[in-house]
Amino acid sequence: PTPVDWAAVRADFPLLTRQVQGKPLIYLDSANTGQKPAAVIEAVDDFYRAHNANVSRAVHTLGTEATEAYEGARRKLARFLNVRGDDLVLCSGTTFAINLVAYSWALPRLKPGDTILVSRMEHHANIVPWQLVAQRTGAVVRVAEIAPDGSLDPDALRAAMTPDVKLLAVTHVSNVLGTVNPVREICREARKRGIVTVVDGSQAVPHRKVDIAAIGCDFYALTGHKMCGPTGTGALWARREHLQAMPPFIGGGEMIKEVSFDGTVFNDAPHKFEAGTPNIAGFIGLGAAVDYLDAIGMAHIEAREAELLAHATEELDRIEGLRIFGRAPEKAAVISFLVEGAHAHDLATLLDLEGVAIRSGQHCAHPLLQFFGVAATCRMSLAFYNTHEEIEKFVAALKKARSLLA
Ligand code: PMP
Repeated sequence: PTPVDWAAVRADFPLLTRQVQGKPLIYLDSANTGQKPAAVIEAVDDFYRAHNANVSRAVHTLGTEATEAYEGARRKLARFLNVRGDDLVLCSGTTFAINLVAYSWALPRLKPGDTILVSRMEHHANIVPWQLVAQRTGAVVRVAEIAPDGSLDPDALRAAMTPDVKLLAVTHVSNVLGTVNPVREICREARKRGIVTVVDGSQAVPHRKVDIAAIGCDFYALTGHKMCGPTGTGALWARREHLQAMPPFIGGGEMIKEVSFDGTVFNDAPHKFEAGTPNIAGFIGLGAAVDYLDAIGMAHIEAREAELLAHATEELDRIEGLRIFGRAPEKAAVISFLVEGAHAHDLATLLDLEGVAIRSGQHCAHPLLQFFGVAATCRMSLAFYNTHEEIEKFVAALKKARSLLA
């Protein structure tokens, strides 16, 4: 493969040239949200400047252009994920996507005696909707535990797939630990037992080649803003039979074929689930983000981030009293850590004074932090646009912060 000019790639991101607190920004919070290349910003700008109109309604030229661009973005995203565009519901992000499954698929089907199996490492977006459904249906939520290194124990998971389990919700990549779960094997085991699978792909799609068809899940949720796209964009992929069987979640315009006071005929999926005016400019930006990632190549991105992760892990491991949470054999470029004698928020605040942006807190994963017995962690997360030099500056800033807190 041709080598990528990573310095040129980095130069595609206007925000990465800015200063914070008088220092060059070192952005290590891409697991929270990713930065945007100029191509994405320009695609959104161009839509509003030159094509702005509503989709699927007007026959005039701008309306047609907007609809074609919006549907073009759906096709790009579908191709990127190796699925059919017709099976991809565009929505505001993973949170909406999982709630759509919870309210349209699970709520009408689950009943007392049924179990929803959820892994310990889920983001609240893949826990709370299931608790809400459980409360309303009488089903229960059961936890699939993890091993101390932050990986899912495959034997324990298989053992937890008892006949009462109707649905399994699992993340592809953990936003806190970086653990990459073997979702293909997990979904195969679940399918053998008739368990429907929901995979949270928020942290996977931005960092590795994701082939949803090969995973063999029932539902796959993703969010656009972590993959170089605008906020308020995302998608739910679902097996066709589920999309056809599921009732609409939100009602309104765009999602119908015919409305009268005697009854309403719904549109076909995916439009049945896309009531109202969507985030048109956002999805056009997401289409540009897909083109951008594709042009670099996900294999290159994965290799680059693995290199940065190895470097950062090696540096952090040299710091005495620093504990890393999550050392699964297959890991994405996310490192959660704590430094003895220093509060996570204090460290993050002092790092900000050096221009370094990391996240501190519970990362929308309270049950996972409870497992490790800690109230908060610091989390640094990398993307392909980060550099080895930034890692070194971050480590120096961390040492300085620690010495101030000692
Ligand atoms: N799941 C995971 C693993 C995440 O990291 C996130 C974002 N932090 C979400 C779900 C929620 O995504 P969004 O807020 O874009 O809906």
